[in-house]
Amino acid sequence: MDELRKYAAELLAKGEVAAVIGYQQVSEKRTKPIIAKTAEDCSKLVFNEYCLNNLAVYLTKARVKELRRVNGSVLKLAITAKPCDVHGIIALIQESQLKREDVTIISFNCAGVVKDFGLDFSGDTMASKCVHCETHKPIYSDVIFGEEKATPQVSDDVLAKIEAIEKMSAAERFEYFKAEFDKCIKCYACRAACPLCYCQRCITDKTIPRWVESSAHSRGNFSWNVVRAFHLSGRCIGCGECERACPMDIPLSLLNRKMVIEAKEAYSYVSGRSLETPTLVGSFDVKDSDELFM
Ligand code: SF4
Ligand code: SF4
Ligand code: SF4
Repeated sequence: MDELRKYAAELLAKGEVAAVIGYQQVSEKRTKPIIAKTAEDCSKLVFNEYCLNNLAVYLTKARVKELRRVNGSVLKLAITAKPCDVHGIIALIQESQLKREDVTIISFNCAGVVKDFGLDFSGDTMASKCVHCETHKPIYSDVIFGEEKATPQVSDDVLAKIEAIEKMSAAERFEYFKAEFDKCIKCYACRAACPLCYCQRCITDKTIPRWVESSAHSRGNFSWNVVRAFHLSGRCIGCGECERACPMDIPLSLLNRKMVIEAKEAYSYVSGRSLETPTLVGSFDVKDSDELFM
């Protein structure tokens, strides 16, 4: 922990970054995000198995944009990022929301994080995103801390549920998701937690024309959740933050992860994995598969 705090404080002291986005411990098994702007703030930084949030979301949301602008120029930010969070940062760079040179990535070797605050880390309590994680070492970073650790091997419940849904008839699938989406209260916590939902004006906030009914009604709920899944297709990095933020426990990862699988199978593409690869939705190749549209 000391090396992380020292590194962050030095970045600030040298004026290399405007702030360090990281985690601070708030109780024995709970952390929360902190935007460290002083050496004292840096002394609170931690990284451990209770660091659930994907902090990449703070790189684009308006309040941090303000932090980055001083006298009209954009200042560099540092961010502490799990290897999976790095995918979110890379996806933002791929989508031209951020420049690589404008972010210092402080990463860690990671064996997984707990699925909920207050739990001890074990195979049974590992977050579902960690169950199917393929990158326990960051693929891009400016510095890496921590020893490599063994990851508990556990069964992938989300994949099993996706496979079960695939075996349903179209009518059964519709009823399944309608029942889930009927629970939606249109709080938009899923959107707020998602690093790739950075639109200045979301489709659901548009009123002329209104594309998505605003009340928490079956029709609008269905269109909101399906539209959002489509908007994240080929872009979602599978961080699971939308599902974790949802107060109604709607299994959003069933949709989002299915879309990740489809993009990978049809186009060999997974978002946030390579700075050299153009985005799936922003590139066109005549050899692209038409399978999804048949
Ligand atoms: S849609 Fe959900 S899982 Fe995908 S990037 Fe956004 S928050 Fe993460
Ligand atoms: S749901 Fe679509 S329009 Fe709304 S913020 Fe997300 S990507 Fe943008
Ligand atoms: S977080 Fe859940 S309840 Fe809130 S808008 Fe998203 S899906 Fe609906």
